[in-house]
Amino acid sequence: MSKRDYYEILGVSKDASKDEMKKAYRKLARKYHPDVNKEDDAADKFKEAKEAYEVLGDEQKRAQYDQFGHAGPQSQGFGGFGGAEDMGGFGDIFDMFFGGGGRRRDPNAPRQGADLQYTMTLNFEEAIFGKETDIEIPKEETCETCDGSGAKPGTQPKTCTHCNGSGQLNMEQNTPFGRVVNKRVCHHCQGSGKIIPDKCNTCGGAGKVKKRKKIHIDIPAGIDEGQQIRMPGQGEPGVNGGPAGDLYVVVQIRSHEFYQREGDHIFCEMPVTFTQAGLGDEVEIPTVHGRVKLKIPAGTQTGKTFRLKGKGAPNVRGYGQGDQHVKIRVITPTNLSDRQKELLREFNDISGKQPADEQEDTFFQRVKRAFKG
Ligand SMILES: [Zn+2]
Ligand SMILES: [Zn+2]
Repeated sequence: MSKRDYYEILGVSKDASKDEMKKAYRKLARKYHPDVNKEDDAADKFKEAKEAYEVLGDEQKRAQYDQFGHAGPQSQGFGGFGGAEDMGGFGDIFDMFFGGGGRRRDPNAPRQGADLQYTMTLNFEEAIFGKETDIEIPKEETCETCDGSGAKPGTQPKTCTHCNGSGQLNMEQNTPFGRVVNKRVCHHCQGSGKIIPDKCNTCGGAGKVKKRKKIHIDIPAGIDEGQQIRMPGQGEPGVNGGPAGDLYVVVQIRSHEFYQREGDHIFCEMPVTFTQAGLGDEVEIPTVHGRVKLKIPAGTQTGKTFRLKGKGAPNVRGYGQGDQHVKIRVITPTNLSDRQKELLREFNDISGKQPADEQEDTFFQRVKRAFKG
């Protein structure tokens, strides 16, 4: 019997929700389950976590624990840990992680359905402004004909006579260490504990049918690559009246030929002519919010970045709005006419050989020094 604080064991705060509790427990259970973790103290840690979750995962026991500490649940006879047999009511969790192996005790216990994942690809702008859409996903649904029992309407599934409904058979084995009793999944009922003599015609006894289901999704503005939207209860149906799993919509964003996105900010590269850069100009910059005029001061160099405030993506959690960063790229003219060449030569004659002699410490002077050195 552990005397450590149950909240501390699970690593959750005193006001953690049931969901957080369950998540924390699953994480620990996965880490320390004796089937997975062979370290010496794994089994103890697993027991500890299980014990903590048994209390905190139950509203009534948790309230008692909050009020009375360890004495509370113990005096009620809750907290004990009776070894492997005690795995009982937690079969649902272990079925999910260990594929319904030998740990399952009660095949009739409600189990949560599996979670589903759907990848949705959005255009650059759709991710920024959000989108309402319907998706169709293939998913299993409880068969309406038999209400999930798998039996023809008017008939009932029967308790498996081989395992008496437990879903497991005891296999006795003689070993050099004595007789060992192993539990195996009953192969007559595949561990369900039930036999269906008259199978439902619609689902063939599975209790579930595959369907394409339309689901409405509201993609929030500002969603980013890899983020996911959880749709509770839209996963696979539960078993034995358990809750359905969740659907996770994972977002992928198509790349854009002009914009790049980093978090809430948008980056782009804007080409300008060398005369615009030299003399200064006002240019129109495309943004996802429409065109914006940007003043380019005379003498702007390639690589100079300007910020268009608020022209990025809205923060998906509602914390303001990103900016657009415009990086200037000066384009060297090509295919010059004779007249243009003549003017450029004249320009060069009055400027001196180096284009930036008048400036104190320029890129060109650094290059010059590098050549001398
Ligand atoms: Zn059916
Ligand atoms: Zn059976």
